Amino acid sequence: MLIIKDISNLQSYLTAYQNRKYSIGFVPTMGALHKGHGELIKKSKNDNHKTIVSIFVNEKQFNSKEDFNSYPRNKGLDYDFCSDNDVDLLFEPSSEEIYNKDETILKNTNYNNILCDKYRKGHFDGVITVLNKFFSIVKSDKVYFGEKDFQQLKIIEKFIQEKYKFLEIVSVPTKRNEEGIAYSSRNEKLSKKQIQDFVSFHQKVENFLKSLEKSFDINTANQKAKDFIVEQDIEELDYFEFRNNNDLSFNGRVSESRLFYAIYKGKVRLIDNLKV
Ligand code: AMP
Repeated sequence: MLIIKDISNLQSYLTAYQNRKYSIGFVPTMGALHKGHGELIKKSKNDNHKTIVSIFVNEKQFNSKEDFNSYPRNKGLDYDFCSDNDVDLLFEPSSEEIYNKDETILKNTNYNNILCDKYRKGHFDGVITVLNKFFSIVKSDKVYFGEKDFQQLKIIEKFIQEKYKFLEIVSVPTKRNEEGIAYSSRNEKLSKKQIQDFVSFHQKVENFLKSLEKSFDINTANQKAKDFIVEQDIEELDYFEFRNNNDLSFNGRVSESRLFYAIYKGKVRLIDNLKV
């Protein structure tokens, strides 16, 4: 496996791949790799001749320095993970390699002021700013994103339609552990007790979903969601609501929606979305 840190070196490998007419799949990540990332890599390996994974903890998408500094990082394990998953090329640039001193931050204008965008102001501006850089450097055929970050996926779909028409976006379903919680780098920051509480919360949410009438409209389901969530022992909550799968609106039936939530365990913010 190649580990490359600078753009010029990367370009020479990309040119070699292109000369051989290899198709390239790209999996952007922030590292602390887990089985969820593994699913994206597997899918890319299946679809393409070569798979490139990037690891870059993007400061511009964090709302606080503290959150950025405490984001899990485990270089050595990530190298092993990529190598065990037969990644062809790991791109791990520094911040200086990616950003100019006075980098212009792009403004995301899609799916604004709802869900995570409402509570993490500027977060998606940082996401599309870094992807704009990565897409223009890597120039892959396909790029892989997880449904775990569903609003992000929708925003990137729009961004690609608007600016990178040559690129095909592939979405990958959320990978969960045996107890049903989604793999996430942030889970590493939870204590055993917090994990247990989170699993028990998740199981209650699953039961709540099973109890819902599929014929409800989304607004009715959201009334039920409000009644359910006030009964739970949650330290802090940003949102817990159903939204339409296609446009993230409140229109339509619950059968065409997902339940989205962002909750806190201690200082750790956990997000998930569940198909109804
Ligand atoms: P991150 O490193 O958290 O920025 O995530 C990199 C990519 O992996 C994003 O496209 C995420 O949506 C995806 N991802 C993270 N967790 C999971 C999971 N449990 N299942 C599937 N994809 C995931």
